[in-house]
Amino acid sequence: MKQATLVLIKPDGLKKSLTGNILTRLSETKLDIIAAKIVRPNRELASEHYCQMKEKPFFEELIQYICGEIHDKHKVMAMVYYGEDAIKKVRNLCGATNPEEAEPTSIRGSYGRITSAGIYENVIHASGNETEAKREIKLWFEPDEIIIHLFPTKITEITSKVRVWHDRRP
Ligand code: GDP
Ligand code: MG
Repeated sequence: MKQATLVLIKPDGLKKSLTGNILTRLSETKLDIIAAKIVRPNRELASEHYCQMKEKPFFEELIQYICGEIHDKHKVMAMVYYGEDAIKKVRNLCGATNPEEAEPTSIRGSYGRITSAGIYENVIHASGNETEAKREIKLWFEPDEIIIHLFPTKITEITSKVRVWHDRRP
């Protein structure tokens, strides 16, 4: 069954210049990238993304981590991968949540670490199941940022002010 899954290269992955390596590893899956962008997550987006972790003792550190406050690198690379069994294929390649328990050749096993403060710096996020994937993709991407039609959309009139280029031509 074809599925879409959200992948985030977390701030530690960007700080360690691992983007190329991680994308190369992900290309082993032969899945299609159908959306990609660099995002500066704010606390609201981060808290919504990790809403299921709200009760965890490490929630505050997790929010600081994904917002880039710990690495002074306030960005993540957000992507949607699409294809047959996408969720499982990407999760297998990522490895276990705890980078020290992750299979050594997996992305997290290769590049992750636990800091002395106990933070799991596991360089990558990948949706865990279809429900999570749907929620997460809709949280990080607008319909027009994804090159195929994934979920139902509607046309709505927006009256708020938006920033546009001052002049498209030099
Ligand atoms: P994932 O789906 O493999 O990313 O794992 P979860 O959804 O369970 O957790 C989300 C994120 O919270 C993980 O990727 C880690 O960054 C962090 N996390 C999960 N469990 C722990 C933990 O026991 N300790 C710490 N410090 N961070 C954790
Ligand atoms: Mg998860």
